[in-house]
Amino acid sequence: MNRPVVSVCSALLGLAAALALFYAPVPTRASLPEFAPAATSAETAPSPLRGSLSPAPQPAPAPTPTLPPVTQPSPPSKGAPSEASLASPAPMPSQTERALSLGEPPLSIPAREVPRLPGTAEAPVPSFSHGPSGQKQVALTFDDGPHPTITPLVLDVLRARGVKATFFVVGIRVKAYPWVLRQVVAEGHEIGNHSYSHRPLVSMSDEAIRHEVGETQTAIRNAIGYETSLFRPPYGVFHANANAIFREHKLNVIRWSVDPRDWRLRDATLIANHVTLQSKNGAIILCHDIHRTTLQALPTILDTLISEGYAFKTVSELCGLPPLRVITASHAPPAPAPEAKN
Ligand SMILES: [Zn+2]
Repeated sequence: MNRPVVSVCSALLGLAAALALFYAPVPTRASLPEFAPAATSAETAPSPLRGSLSPAPQPAPAPTPTLPPVTQPSPPSKGAPSEASLASPAPMPSQTERALSLGEPPLSIPAREVPRLPGTAEAPVPSFSHGPSGQKQVALTFDDGPHPTITPLVLDVLRARGVKATFFVVGIRVKAYPWVLRQVVAEGHEIGNHSYSHRPLVSMSDEAIRHEVGETQTAIRNAIGYETSLFRPPYGVFHANANAIFREHKLNVIRWSVDPRDWRLRDATLIANHVTLQSKNGAIILCHDIHRTTLQALPTILDTLISEGYAFKTVSELCGLPPLRVITASHAPPAPAPEAKN
């Protein structure tokens, strides 16, 4: 091709790529099964995550999300949750809807190195995708909750087997369902920060990342009186310059080594098979306490690994980190659970 044609083609390709990045879909509950394309592009796009050859491009501005009708959290119920309550929540702020309908993309990148951006002097904060391999111990983690009905049912399964787990919670869900978080903590489980809106941090400015991290720490503290020292970035990825923000909050980055992709499989047998076959000493297992099939897989996962001699630890226990930090001064105690008013 001659030079003008090449130039036009290049310009069109560039425009198409920019549009694709700008209009990358925000995940919704309805789009979860079709989440693979967006995540695939995230894995393969020449993003700053992989970029070490040239200066990282400026991340595209986050598009203003167009969201379906908003929903509202269901009040806690002592009775068994119904499928209808899961499927038809009541109205709520639009930002909440996005967070309540999130899911993980098919990224399985627990050990991905995060290159430092040019000019970034920040050293990475401590990061873990597994614990020591010397002992027959694993950590079970649940992301994207708390969920008003599934999370309490997950707690029932864990309690029946004396298993403690770590729940990486989304700030906007913590604000919607603080009583669920309090139940998680009351039963001896650990809490981690999983961002406020579950948007990919790589598409955000430092100020937006600071909001994602800080607002969630505040929501956790307001709900349970503690903050956490654990952070799991949505989709497992972030710019190296986010380390400065993690350091401000004294956070360790926690990824995973076993990912059954339960958000996509939606089959209890397949999920349980993956986890039980892939788990080994020091494994950090990634699940989601927002899917009923994950709940259904849980008894088999626990019973199998326990029968094989594995002990379940929280992430802090497995990795030798300090547990939740207690905030004892200048913060009001958590508000009473809504059920106390009924
Ligand atoms: Zn997540």
